[in-house]
Amino acid sequence: MNNQLVYLNGEYLPLDQAKVSVLDRGFIFGDGIYEVIPAYAGKTLRFEHHMQRLQRSLDAVRITNPLSNEQWQKIINKLIAATGSQDQSVYLHITRGVAQRDHSFPHKLEHTVFAMSNILQTVSPELLKTGITAITLDDIRWQYCNIKSISLLPNILLRQQAVDKDAAEAILIRNGNVTEGAASNVFVVSNGVIKTPPKDHKILPGITRDLIVELAKEHAMPIEEISISEEEFFTADEIWLTSSTKEVLPVTQINEQQVGDGKPGIIWKNMYQKYQDFKKSLHN
Ligand code: PMP
Repeated sequence: MNNQLVYLNGEYLPLDQAKVSVLDRGFIFGDGIYEVIPAYAGKTLRFEHHMQRLQRSLDAVRITNPLSNEQWQKIINKLIAATGSQDQSVYLHITRGVAQRDHSFPHKLEHTVFAMSNILQTVSPELLKTGITAITLDDIRWQYCNIKSISLLPNILLRQQAVDKDAAEAILIRNGNVTEGAASNVFVVSNGVIKTPPKDHKILPGITRDLIVELAKEHAMPIEEISISEEEFFTADEIWLTSSTKEVLPVTQINEQQVGDGKPGIIWKNMYQKYQDFKKSLHN
């Protein structure tokens, strides 16, 4: 799909014609913010929530949001329509802009704005039956993990270490507590209680994470937003990962040891169904 329609700085054009300057601060410094929004049957999931997170990330790095939510929605709708009727993942990307290389912010810069929509690679039914393998690694990232920064080098290096060990995700540990995955949030189930780390600067406030917390509360499933120690993590009955593109995934093997009975857990199954029902309800 190399000639897909993309948006760049006010224009719609084929991907292979979308070009930015080598002096773009996104290219030079990784000085920018991004968002990923899933879209099912042409409709974005939790658009407002994604926009709020985008705004918070932009505010945190002092980049002005170049577009209103209505303008974003228009661009997104157009890209989704151009990509087709399949489920998609919409990518938004804003950098501080183009300037002579200098660490400090240049005055009055026009931000670079890029957006594209790709067909969503859905998780295969086989994988949902077996669950995935993950490893744990030291969380070597910075202190502002709540910002959805395009500077993803630590996350990339961590994910690659997992892939090198035939694992799908690296789950990160900071000071003896689980934080999140390299590109996902983490949940455990211990003694029938679902637990996920609280939202602070150590994790990205996942939109899927929040939805899972909401669904649990709505259906009276016991849930706590609470620190998860390594010890609790390794003895958990179930481990799940959440993200906009992977939804809710069961982890059945961690560091080559099986999680619970080595199969996706019963509470995960229940939650997975609730998530699918929620998606369907958007189209009714
Ligand atoms: N944590 C990190 C580090 C991520 O990169 C992501 C998204 N890819 C998530 C959590 C999950 O966030 P969301 O549910 O909004 O996709």
